[in-house]
Amino acid sequence: MRDIHNILILTGAGISAESGVATFRGPGGLWEGHRVEDVCTPEALERDRAQVHRFYDARREQLAAVEPNAAHRALARLDAEWAGDLLLVTQNVDDLHERAGSKRLLHMHGELKSALCARCEARQPWEAALPPGHICPACGASALRPDIVFFGEMPYRMDVIEQALAKADLFVSIGTSGAVYPAAGFVQTARYHGAATLELNLDPSEGSLWFAESRMGPAGTLVPAWVDELLG
Ligand code: NAD
Ligand code: ZN
Repeated sequence: MRDIHNILILTGAGISAESGVATFRGPGGLWEGHRVEDVCTPEALERDRAQVHRFYDARREQLAAVEPNAAHRALARLDAEWAGDLLLVTQNVDDLHERAGSKRLLHMHGELKSALCARCEARQPWEAALPPGHICPACGASALRPDIVFFGEMPYRMDVIEQALAKADLFVSIGTSGAVYPAAGFVQTARYHGAATLELNLDPSEGSLWFAESRMGPAGTLVPAWVDELLG
């Protein structure tokens, strides 16, 4: 196996579960009691804009009541102490990685604490509720929406992610079901380029067979142990 210098880490909803943030497909396939199609698609935004905004307002408001857990903290420590290249790509829209201290971080599916103008694509940091029809300070259009990548939309920064996948020596996937593309395909790309691959998840995911090694258990236990191992 080649020496490990470049690390690419992908996280999903499972890493925030022990902080009290619900994962995507909970019991009955619902996300916080909602059908995914009703809150996470461009069609839902067309059909019932107010419901979609209310849903993300509630998720944003919840951030004030949750804290990063041991897994977020361990990844922040790895970021601070790892001398080689490292990129943490999260599918999560919460802010727990940055609150734990991670710096080399990219939100491929957007962020709750950001508003996006559907007209001019300017972004604003956003803390409060975001009612539909809010005016964009950059262009004046009444077009601000949650800065969230919906199903059918292109995830952010794919060029940066593809480059990092191509040069990764180690690809690690944490707390993700491996059901949402293109993130679910990252393991195959990383393998193709010769990376070692490791999965840390509560239970076997749809993509488990692609990983050279899979460890099953809660992220709050597995991630700090893996970081200790890596930093020696
Ligand atoms: P998912 O809900 O589809 O899958 C979560 C995975 O985490 C499952 O495989 C589950 O077994 C595992 N898991 C649950 N608890 C765990 C724990 N304590 N430790 C380790 N693993 C655990 O999530 P996904 O694959 O990230 O896809 C969901 C999509 O929904 C993402 O695109 C994301 O943007 C969005 N989402 C984000 C958040 C958030 O920001 N925290 C929460 C829910 C959904
Ligand atoms: Zn605008």
